[in-house]
Amino acid sequence: MVVIHKSLKINSDSKFQIVDITSVINKELASLNLSNGIVNVFSKHSTTGIVINENESGLLSDFKKSLEDVILSSNNYKHDRIDNNASSHLKAFLIGSSQSIPIIDNKLDLGTWQSVFFVELDGPRVNRTITLTFIGE
Ligand code: ZN
Repeated sequence: MVVIHKSLKINSDSKFQIVDITSVINKELASLNLSNGIVNVFSKHSTTGIVINENESGLLSDFKKSLEDVILSSNNYKHDRIDNNASSHLKAFLIGSSQSIPIIDNKLDLGTWQSVFFVELDGPRVNRTITLTFIGE
C-alpha cells in the first residue's frame, strides 16, 4: 500500500465560483502507478468546499441560489465584526471541506453524472490549495 499527497492550486475570480476539478484529479491519478484504492480531496480553507454532483449549468446555478436562500448574506453575524465574511464560512460549514472517491483500475469510480467540484465562497482569491491524498496499491 502507498500513500501519495499531491497539491493543487486554484485562483478564483469571483465571490462564488464552482470549478470542476475532475479532469485535474484524473490527470494526477493517471500519472501514478495506483490501480485500486481511494483518493481524498481536501480543501485547506474555511470559506471553500468540495462537493460531488452533476455538471449542469442550471443545476449549478440552483445550487448557488439555494445556498443563498439558506444562508443570508447578512444577518447580524458576530463573525462579520472580525472580517465581514460570516456568510462564506457558514456556507462552507454546510457543504464540507472534503470528499473521498474510490479508485478502480486507475480510474475515479464516479457515477456517469458525477463530477468533483471545488467551491469558492469568498473569492476572488489566489492560491487556494487542495490536497489530494491517494491511498491504495
Ligand atoms: Zn472570516
